[in-house]
Amino acid sequence: MPMTYKLLTPGPLTTTDTVKREMLFDHCTWDDDYKRITQRIRRRLLALAHAPEATHTAILLQGSGTFGVEATLTSIPGPDDKLLILANGAYGDRMADIARHAALPHTHLRLPLDASPDPGRLRQALADDPAITHVALVHSETTTGILNDLPALAPIVKAAGKTLIVDAMSSFAGVDLDWPALGVDFLVSSANKCVQGVPGFSFVIADRAKLIASRGHARSLSLDLHDQWATMEQDGKWRFTSPTHAVLAFAKALDELDAEGGVPARAARYRANNRLLIARLTALGFRPYLPPALQGPIITTFLYPEGHAFAFQDLYAYVKARGYAIYPGKLTDADTFRLGNIGEIYEGDILNLAAILRDFLAEHPSK
Ligand SMILES: *Cc1c(COP(=O)(O)O)cnc(C)c1O
Repeated sequence: MPMTYKLLTPGPLTTTDTVKREMLFDHCTWDDDYKRITQRIRRRLLALAHAPEATHTAILLQGSGTFGVEATLTSIPGPDDKLLILANGAYGDRMADIARHAALPHTHLRLPLDASPDPGRLRQALADDPAITHVALVHSETTTGILNDLPALAPIVKAAGKTLIVDAMSSFAGVDLDWPALGVDFLVSSANKCVQGVPGFSFVIADRAKLIASRGHARSLSLDLHDQWATMEQDGKWRFTSPTHAVLAFAKALDELDAEGGVPARAARYRANNRLLIARLTALGFRPYLPPALQGPIITTFLYPEGHAFAFQDLYAYVKARGYAIYPGKLTDADTFRLGNIGEIYEGDILNLAAILRDFLAEHPSK
């Protein structure tokens, strides 16, 4: 048996054995049973998003989450449209990188990492540039762990009559929101985040009319969101080879999400994990980077204790040898590491981790 560990990372995350076991079967891609599984997944995703089937539709797309974001950003705006990107972390910056690669007209608004985008800045940016037609932002910015204030921002985008694209990668199914009611026109997430499937595809929950209106806008073939949808909409057949094993695992993960009590129950578990994690680590001398009001329930950035005399690699190896994989920090201005508390992670794991970190600190005294 190789060494195993649980993932305290923001996805891929630790899945159940029953989800992993679904992947032992090599499914045929054009078989009716398989198409039905795809269609059922699409309906279930709409239900999780509180999106009515009459007005919304779900598209599954091969590739990791970034493929879904790139497909949306490069398929939805037309040639005369302009994108405003609100970025307060690496995933917001990545959206701008996508826009640059595709030569999309865009404005990259770089905002402080330790605050939710200021609603006044958004209102001003829209007022200053009438050419803007689409606004894109990240909901749970995994860079810091902040949960951006979508309920404050989305109505401003809607009042201005713009299309709203949200990277909800690490929050969808981990935070319960009525996304269409908020005014989110396109929501992007992926199989290996809070639904607790394995990596292999992303998905987009789209306003059906806006998706149909985007026909012909795509800048690439394989990331053409409208064409991906048009094929899938016929009978559940994917355009191009689909990640069959990941799809079967995802269908099982959706069942297990229901069995847990749906998104509200999962969100409560993640929130409880996160509170316990912060309480236990704070007691050991680690400080969360964000104030409690901005801290999301998915992943937390921690500063090292004062005067610490160890490198992340030492900490990583020590914790890994005791059964958990942790995550490096992504801030340039502060020495940090990150801990995700999503996936098959429970109170016992948080307590185990706290005990491991306590032992580590005892063996690595501060200067
Ligand atoms: C995980 C994640 C992504 C997607 O990353 P991939 O490595 O392409 O799966 C995008 N945005 C956010 C906020 C994420 O957490």
